[in-house]
Amino acid sequence: MSKKLYVTKTHLPPIERYKAYIDQIWERGWITNHGELVGKLAVRLQKCLDAKQLCLTSNGTLALQIAIKALAKGGEIITTPFSYVATTSSIVWQGCKPVYADIEPGTLCIDPAKIEQAITPQTTAILATHVYGNACDVEAISGIAERHGLKVIYDAAHAFGASYRGKPLCNYGDASILSFHATKLFHTIEGGALICNDKELHETFCYMRNFGHDGEEAFHGLGINAKMNEFSAAMGLCVLDDLDGILAKRKAIHENYNELLDGLPITGPRLRNADGYNHAYYPVLFADEAACLAVQKALNKEGIYPRRYFYPPLNQLPYVEHAPMPVSDEVSRRVLCLPVSSELPPDEQERVSQIIRKTIG
Ligand SMILES: *Cc1c(COP(=O)(O)O)cnc(C)c1O
Repeated sequence: MSKKLYVTKTHLPPIERYKAYIDQIWERGWITNHGELVGKLAVRLQKCLDAKQLCLTSNGTLALQIAIKALAKGGEIITTPFSYVATTSSIVWQGCKPVYADIEPGTLCIDPAKIEQAITPQTTAILATHVYGNACDVEAISGIAERHGLKVIYDAAHAFGASYRGKPLCNYGDASILSFHATKLFHTIEGGALICNDKELHETFCYMRNFGHDGEEAFHGLGINAKMNEFSAAMGLCVLDDLDGILAKRKAIHENYNELLDGLPITGPRLRNADGYNHAYYPVLFADEAACLAVQKALNKEGIYPRRYFYPPLNQLPYVEHAPMPVSDEVSRRVLCLPVSSELPPDEQERVSQIIRKTIG
């Protein structure tokens, strides 16, 4: 049997390049706490993402928690049921209440009309996900937020390298968070970032990331430990060197899947930012759950492991109030993300596609 194929494979740079950074770390004897490589990576990412302010963190989930802590201050946060669990768990972890607004059936991003209906006097913020790197209706969302005095946080964990109307997708809203987990398009092993336009908010983020420390003996306020370390930053610097190639390869993979799966009874999300898409994931929507599960089973039998991103929907988590979200509930039952990585060879894509065609064609 051929090698196992997962939904993604971590991009690893040539080891010599990583080793060169590790040698530097050894020479300095400095492995965390705002080291030189973390500083270098922050500068390069800020440029690459055209971000006004950028604060690196140890992962995307802590970035989300810090953003919520700094911006929402309790109450209800309107959010999408169709995202990774961290989008909701961070809200609950911060002592806020997630209130769901269903998704648009085409884009699978949160539906602004449903946001409007979910607003109560307790609402403090909107936390929306650019799911699969597909842009939320950022104009409508910012209009709602302005009218009701709400903060907007984007979970841009999938949005690295994506743009909307010529601007990086992670630059919308009051703040965006990125995840640099090993499974993401750009990664630092584990890592993340907080992006915002406001200098004061950025300073709050940076204090919160480092226990609230203001120098060694003073504290600006409550904080947590969410610092990135030098080994992660070294990985990030190496992966960033390969970014153009990673994006081009993923685009080619998408085009190839589109061709290989042509004519089958499947669809994909409607992209709001088709010209600025990052091809982070290849989600396939089957006609129904039975078809989805049949394909999953057939692929698993051949050592191929796509993922049901995102099943179950977050409004069905055991620690939230269950509210039916008809669109998201239905979509999440019949979606599979097919393998995509910077190393996926065309013949593996053919193998995946043939199994799908044999199962539902
Ligand atoms: C990966 C991911 C996160 C969590 O990021 P980590 O860096 O793994 O903590 C949050 N939200 C979404 C949508 C994600 O895909």
